[in-house]
Amino acid sequence: MIPSILPTYSRAPLTFVSGEGSWLTEADGRRFLDLGAGIAVNALGHANPALVAALTAQAQALWHVSNLYNIPAQQQLADALVAQTFADTVFFTNSGTEACELAVKMARKYWYDKGQPERTEIITFSGSFHGRSSAGIAAAGSEKMTKGFGPLLPGFTHLEFGDHDALKAAVSDKIAAIMVEPVQGEGGIRPLPDVCLKGLRDLCDQHGILLILDEVQCGMGRTGKLFAHEWAGIAPDIMMVAKGIGGGFPLGAVLATENAASGMTAGTHGSTYGGNPLACAVGAKVMEIVGDPAFLAEVNRKAGIMRQKLEGLVAAHPDVFEAVRGSGLMLGLKCKAVNSDVVAAGFAQGVLTVPAADNVVRLLPALNITDADIALAVEKLDAAASHVKEANA
Ligand SMILES: *Cc1c(COP(=O)(O)O)cnc(C)c1O
Repeated sequence: MIPSILPTYSRAPLTFVSGEGSWLTEADGRRFLDLGAGIAVNALGHANPALVAALTAQAQALWHVSNLYNIPAQQQLADALVAQTFADTVFFTNSGTEACELAVKMARKYWYDKGQPERTEIITFSGSFHGRSSAGIAAAGSEKMTKGFGPLLPGFTHLEFGDHDALKAAVSDKIAAIMVEPVQGEGGIRPLPDVCLKGLRDLCDQHGILLILDEVQCGMGRTGKLFAHEWAGIAPDIMMVAKGIGGGFPLGAVLATENAASGMTAGTHGSTYGGNPLACAVGAKVMEIVGDPAFLAEVNRKAGIMRQKLEGLVAAHPDVFEAVRGSGLMLGLKCKAVNSDVVAAGFAQGVLTVPAADNVVRLLPALNITDADIALAVEKLDAAASHVKEANA
């Protein structure tokens, strides 16, 4: 008999009932150190007092009015994002998938309005993840996500991640945009080297192609810059954001330059919930905290500590781990053992991690994790690795 919840997820047998900072409490009272943060969502930890206060104040005033009217919190968040990024304009969504939908529509409308309606093709890369909508799965293109869901939305050219020659060969006057994650998340914490991101920007400039960056997972301070592309010193034309921006409240956004967004006039796109007062009240507070250079400096300092400890962990368990990779507090342990065994062994030690493709264990702690919790987390991972090694011996 089908369960009352559609069985599309394989869940761990854990039920969390409360959280505080980087800690979660299970229904049976056990406490877990959370290095998953709801898949890079709880950027400021659980039950962050500043976010609870922002949400509660808005909840007492007004929950929802729709985009038929002005929403002050939405305006405040849009102004902050425009002030601190490449973007001139922002559209709010409820998720990363919806941000992908708009990014695709915006790129196509841009060329339609420029008198090149046949210029619809978008280049994407293997190992990418852009959400689970029809456009999102067509964009990523992997068999795992698309099989059985055809006919797929046409107009995506899938290239091998890192295949520069294929990229050059694929460029034509049919290409509307290139869509890429500066650091692949679901694909296994695979950073695009800065030189490649710069190269993509140059290629786009040469051919007038729009550069769409998917920073749903790597954005909002995760890599130690507000947005990951800042490390490469380049800017996109369109950027997808979600996950961390809501700090745990469902919120996403598409940021764009005035030029890239020029086709999106009144009536061309919309969302009932997108930019809702509750979401934006929380998002504005997240932005205020994470957008502070002093906060980002702390992310970088902590990332340095965590990375160093993880290098030690890998060196201590060469049978279990192969390497540390990633950027900032978006870290991955490339495994020799089976990654899901490492995650399960972590559960037994009271530490939560997230598996990713390419046999990687993802570590995506709250950006404000304490130094003491970083040290404890690595101790727990060390114990977990010892158990995995024993089990495999
Ligand atoms: C999670 C994710 C998405 C999809 O976001 P949802 O909020 O799950 O719809 C898109 N792109 C990337 C890079 C992601 O990590």
